[in-house]
Amino acid sequence: MKKIVTFLIIACSLILVLPTNTYAKKATTLAELRAELASLKKEKSDNQKQQNLTKNEINSAKNNITKKETQIETNQQKVIEATNESARLEEEIASGKETLEKLVQSYQVAKGDNVYLEYVFQATSYEDLVYRYAIMEQLMDYQEDLISSWKDKIEYNSQLKIDLANKEIELNNQIDSLASDIKKLGTKLNELDDMFQDIDAEIASVQSSIKYYTDLGCKENEDLNQCMAVASSKTFRRPLVKGTITSQFGYRTHPITGKKSSFHSGTDIGVKEGTNVYPIANGTVSKLTIQSKCGGNMVYIQHIVNGKKYTSTYMHLLKINVKIGKTVTTEDVIGLSGGSSTAKKNGGYDTCTTGGHLHLSLATGWYEKDYFGYSNWRSHLVNPKTTLNLPSSWSTR
Ligand SMILES: [Zn+2]
Repeated sequence: MKKIVTFLIIACSLILVLPTNTYAKKATTLAELRAELASLKKEKSDNQKQQNLTKNEINSAKNNITKKETQIETNQQKVIEATNESARLEEEIASGKETLEKLVQSYQVAKGDNVYLEYVFQATSYEDLVYRYAIMEQLMDYQEDLISSWKDKIEYNSQLKIDLANKEIELNNQIDSLASDIKKLGTKLNELDDMFQDIDAEIASVQSSIKYYTDLGCKENEDLNQCMAVASSKTFRRPLVKGTITSQFGYRTHPITGKKSSFHSGTDIGVKEGTNVYPIANGTVSKLTIQSKCGGNMVYIQHIVNGKKYTSTYMHLLKINVKIGKTVTTEDVIGLSGGSSTAKKNGGYDTCTTGGHLHLSLATGWYEKDYFGYSNWRSHLVNPKTTLNLPSSWSTR
C-alpha cells in the first residue's frame, strides 16, 4: 500500500513538473521564439478543435435525451391505451359472460321448460334435430372462445404495461447517464477554455517578446542576451534620415542676438519642418518640455551606448509622439521636426529658432537621474557632431 502511495505521489509530481519544465525552457533566439509561437498557435487550434468536438458531443447527448424523453412519452401513451383497452375488454367480458349465462340459462331452462327442447324438437326431421342441437353447442363454444380471446388480450396488455414500465426505467437510467456525461463534458469544456485563455496569454507574451527583440534589431539566430547587450551598446545613429549641419556645438556668434561667444548647447541640423525625428540610440524617454520659450517642444531620452550612459535632447519639435517612460528604439519616430512655424517671429512661441531645424543636444550620464539642474546638464554636454561622427551633410541614416 505504501509503495502504491509513493508511486502515485511520484507520478503526480511528474505530471505537474513536466509541463512547467517545458515552459521553463526559455527561447534563447528569435528563431526559437518564433518556433515557440508556432507551436502555441498549433496548441490553440488543437484546443479549438477539441472544444468543438466536445460541444458536438454535448449537443448529441442532449439530442439523445430529447429522443428518449419523447420515447418515454410515447410509452406512457401506450400504457394509457393498453389500460383503456383492458377496461373496455373487461366490460365486454362482463357483457359476454352475461350473454353466455343467459344462453346457459336458456339452455338449462329450455331443458326444464321445454324451450330448448322446443327449439330442438321443433325439428322437422332427425337431421334438423342434430343440426339444431349442434347450433346450440356451437353458439356456446363461440361465446366461450370469444371470452377466452379477450382474456388473452387483457393478459397481453398487462404484460405490455409491465414491459413498458421496465422500458421507462431503462430509458430514465439512460437519460441519467447521458446527463452525467454532459456534466463531465461541460467540465472538460471549461478546462479546455481555461487552457485556451492561458495559451492566448502565452501567445500575446511571445508575440510581444518577438516584437521587442525584432525592434532591437536582433538576428534570427543571435543569442537574445547577447543581442540586448549589443543593442544597448550599439553605436549612435543619426536622428534624421536627411540633414545638413547648420550650426555647431559650443561657443559661436549667436544667430539671433548677434552676441559673440554665445554658448550653443548642441548641433543644429537644418531640415524641413514636419520631418520624422528618431532617437540616436535605443533608450527610455525621461523628460518632455512643452512650448518652452527657448527650445519649444523637447524630448529627453536616456541611453546606454557602449556601456556608457547618455542623455539626448531633441528641441524645436513641431509634434511629440512619445510619453515619459516609453522605451524607444532607433526605429521609433519620437516626433516631427519644427522650428519654422513654431518660431516667435512667425507667430509661434519659440524665441530660439529662425527656421526649420532640429537642435540635438547630448550629455553624458542620465540627466535628472544622476544629476539635476541646467548648469549640471550643461557641464555634462558633449559635441553631438563628433560623438555621433556626423558628416556635415547626409541623406541616409
Ligand atoms: Zn540649436
